[in-house]
Amino acid sequence: MEIRKIGVVGAGQMGNGIAHVMSLAGFEVMLNDISQDMLDKAIVTMTRNMERQVSREKITQHEMDSALGRITPTLTLTDLGATDLVIEAATERETVKQAIFDALLPHLQPHTILTSNTSSISITRLASRTDRPEKFMGFHFMNPVPVMQLVELIRGIATDKPTYDACLTVVEKLGKTAASAEDFPAFIVNRILMPMINEAVYTLYEGVGNVQSIDQSMKLGANHPMGPLELADFIGLDTCLAIMNVVHDGLADTKYRPCPLLTKYVEAGWLGRKTGRGFYDYRGEVPVPTR
Ligand code: NAD
Repeated sequence: MEIRKIGVVGAGQMGNGIAHVMSLAGFEVMLNDISQDMLDKAIVTMTRNMERQVSREKITQHEMDSALGRITPTLTLTDLGATDLVIEAATERETVKQAIFDALLPHLQPHTILTSNTSSISITRLASRTDRPEKFMGFHFMNPVPVMQLVELIRGIATDKPTYDACLTVVEKLGKTAASAEDFPAFIVNRILMPMINEAVYTLYEGVGNVQSIDQSMKLGANHPMGPLELADFIGLDTCLAIMNVVHDGLADTKYRPCPLLTKYVEAGWLGRKTGRGFYDYRGEVPVPTR
């Protein structure tokens, strides 16, 4: 089955990135959110990001104009009924995602593939509550979507091969690379990355190093482009904690217990870049370590 029309639910940082790359690859995109403000902001963000690509000669002005012309923002979820593939990228809360699928299901065509961009929720559980578990899977982009090369494709226990192959073809049309992952907590990238970030926070908590020495060690000693604490601030400390909790609960292994210091930062509302403070304070000219 050829996929031509794609529905994206949620126009936040991931949703607008997904609409951006899909429209540039030639797909028609229906972009839905509950907030007109988020839809307006998404169009502004995509326009700005594509303008940057034009100025760097990665795409032409004509490609940008045609891509933006293929995106239809809508507040009406049921408008996505006519699409071939839906990628749900709304807030990371199971009740929110569940309500979206419940509202959408009666309006979908029989062939429509349903996917979620969730970082941590079980694909098999989400799929089991729909009328099409065999046509349901995880379509997990990395942030920022237009820049990052990888997409994790996650099969639920019931996902069939034609569904997987159709999603793989979409990833290839985007010029991205797919990694196939089984449906276990945090999949591949976050299963490896988050315990490393959590361990960096333990290293800080136990006083083995300070923020600067830990980040510098991993940049210069392990050739990582960003230090783990800097990266945690970029991702959002609430997100890091939520994923650690999912891995800890889902695998029932104490080696994944979230560091109490990570919990403390989240309790303080110091969530990283998005709130102006995390392991670094971003409110001045240059980021200053907070420990
Ligand atoms: P975000 O908060 O930036 O955006 C979420 C959007 O969903 C908001 O615009 C919100 O208005 C909208 N929304 C909420 N309820 C809705 C509903 N019922 N119908 C339609 N829209 C609704 O979040 P995000 O960072 O873009 O994350 C979205 C998803 O992508 C989550 O599942 C997250 O786990 C996953 N993800 C995030 C990252 C990341 O680094 N941020 C990376 C990979 C995957």
